[in-house]
Amino acid sequence: MKILISDAFDPSLPERLKEFGEVTDDPSRVGEANVVLIRSKTKCTREYIDSAPNLKLIIRGGVGLDNVDLEYAAEKGITVHNTPAASSVAVAELAFAHLLAIPNRLIEGHNTMKKGEWAKKQLKRTELMGKTLGLIGIGRIAQEVAKRAKAFGMTVIAYDKYVEKSDAAEMMSFDDLLKQADYISMHTPLTVDTKGMINKKTIAKMKDGVVIVNTGRGKCVVEEDMVEALKSGKVATYATDVWFSDPPAEDCPLLTTPNVQMTPHIGASSKENLLRIGDTVVDILKNFK
Ligand code: NAD
Repeated sequence: MKILISDAFDPSLPERLKEFGEVTDDPSRVGEANVVLIRSKTKCTREYIDSAPNLKLIIRGGVGLDNVDLEYAAEKGITVHNTPAASSVAVAELAFAHLLAIPNRLIEGHNTMKKGEWAKKQLKRTELMGKTLGLIGIGRIAQEVAKRAKAFGMTVIAYDKYVEKSDAAEMMSFDDLLKQADYISMHTPLTVDTKGMINKKTIAKMKDGVVIVNTGRGKCVVEEDMVEALKSGKVATYATDVWFSDPPAEDCPLLTTPNVQMTPHIGASSKENLLRIGDTVVDILKNFK
């Protein structure tokens, strides 16, 4: 079996995969590969799949499969696996890090001190306790966020198109969530339904000064509408780990809009998660016939 590791995995993985065959990280050898390991960087498009005539298995280390042409892979008889359970805690902790940093003015506190300023009087904080967190999607990651939010004394509500009841949160309609939430955290995959779901119309239904955290997918938000809402103060802060493209285009308006808190798509990049993904990849290969 020839295995191509196309994106960044834990450094121990190549050695662990040697029991299954020859392992390379040279992308020019895609034509020989029977198995390709990807994260979010490699795009398994129709052209990519056509360049790999020996491909039998694509393993996406992570959750979202929007970088794989699933239909074309199926047509070519290629099996596609992801590692959905491995990343939940890693992404939830990053979402919560964003949630905590905003009311605690962590980044402004740090930046002003770096500039030699003492902004003790200006940096008024607020608390998460007693506030309402609205989760869009109540899947694996959102449920981990819900646990952490409850530990901080937040009321947790959620909307999920496919889930009516959950122990993790009080379920409600999308509109009700938008009306009630002080903080919104986004946890859906990118689909035809979720693309652009946060837009001028949906933002108008939110509370004034709402905070939105997005560790789901960048394209679930209409960027220009978010920029407008940030400028008017309707949205107090937009914290995002996910972008229209990785990395965002130089002229992405979010990069230069105040009150955007940014991370470079590192939700799944914890050391522990990369080890868990490696374990799952080994299990998938053991069971692959
Ligand atoms: P999951 O499948 O467990 O949960 C997704 C939930 O979204 C499901 O409950 C589903 O019913 C719900 N959903 C689907 N369409 C919806 C819609 N139109 N409206 C409302 N809810 C909808 O997945 P998960 O493991 O929780 O991951 C969620 C998403 O997080 C992934 O699809 C991916 O886009 C993103 N993610 C980001 C990172 C990162 O690095 N930032 C890492 C992993 C995953």
